[in-house]
Amino acid sequence: MSDQGSQTERERSQEPQATERERAQEAQATEQALDRAAQAGIHRLAIPTPFQVGRVNAYLIEDEPLTLVDSGPNSGKALDELERALSGLGHRIEDIGLLVITHQHMDHFGLAAILARRSGAEVAALGALAPFLRGFGERADSDDAFAQRIMLRHGIPPDVVRALRSVSASYRGWGGKVEVTQPLSHGQELTLRDRALKVLHRPGHSPSDTIFLDERERILLSADHLIKHISSNPLISLPLDAPPDYDGPRPKALITYIESLKATKEMDLDIVLPGHGDPVLDHVALIDERMRMHARRAQKIKRLIESQPKSAHEIAQELWGNVAVTQAYLTLSEVLGHVDLLMEAGEAVEVEQDGVLRFQARRDS
Ligand SMILES: [Zn+2]
Repeated sequence: MSDQGSQTERERSQEPQATERERAQEAQATEQALDRAAQAGIHRLAIPTPFQVGRVNAYLIEDEPLTLVDSGPNSGKALDELERALSGLGHRIEDIGLLVITHQHMDHFGLAAILARRSGAEVAALGALAPFLRGFGERADSDDAFAQRIMLRHGIPPDVVRALRSVSASYRGWGGKVEVTQPLSHGQELTLRDRALKVLHRPGHSPSDTIFLDERERILLSADHLIKHISSNPLISLPLDAPPDYDGPRPKALITYIESLKATKEMDLDIVLPGHGDPVLDHVALIDERMRMHARRAQKIKRLIESQPKSAHEIAQELWGNVAVTQAYLTLSEVLGHVDLLMEAGEAVEVEQDGVLRFQARRDS
């Protein structure tokens, strides 16, 4: 099931609402950050997507080779807008020498094959992601089959599961197979003429999330690992190295994500350029806010399972009503992530009833 943008984050932030004046100051800070990035040769190109998340940010790095980080989805409209944005900066698709892919979601890599074919660009991505990108259609099918098994196991009715699977298949065309010609590994440097980008694997939102640090400029390209206006949903995905029929332990995406966030919090940064929306100027404060939100949500879920065990789907329905049906996999991933936090802290246990897994808070915790 692909990442089509979260609705679960619609719950109002408990942080105080910004005043008019604060909003104006923030808009100005955003402009300044984008200007500074542009002076460092890094330009944000906001490309339309058909997904709920809205536009996706590709970043053009004016260096040698001319580098594009993420492509936007596989659509004529995305290609057209990308071309126009490039031409506004004095470049053409044919000038691109290197395409970098940040992770396995279609809104980020869908156009990559078309761009690579037209430009002859090298394609760089995490080595472990290369088989997924090369075999995209089949891999996406395996991902969906895996999601289907998880949904049934956690109490989502079979007719809803079937409907969601066909919705997911209908979105498949926004992606496309692409061959990675420069496999990257965690910790290495991607060297351009005027800069080195440190490659860091930060899984959680997806198994392949990769971020790129320009150490000299203190600018981080964070993709969907850290986004200012929405919390990055840690979707449960088939592990990258799993066989297509994998039915092993469920990945603990939120726990993985929180570990990755802790590592990013330690970094010394001026500007974070995310895969959606505006730059993040205080990543430490934002990560702290996300950590508080996850802890709050875990406690809220704990209260829901104090009196009796509930399936993750039942919990999602209590929290989000009908959204738990229309966005069943997203909300399921969200609940399971927080249940994992509770279980890790010894505050909840898993019980199996009639083939469905349910969770119950421990009374003595
Ligand atoms: Zn994503």
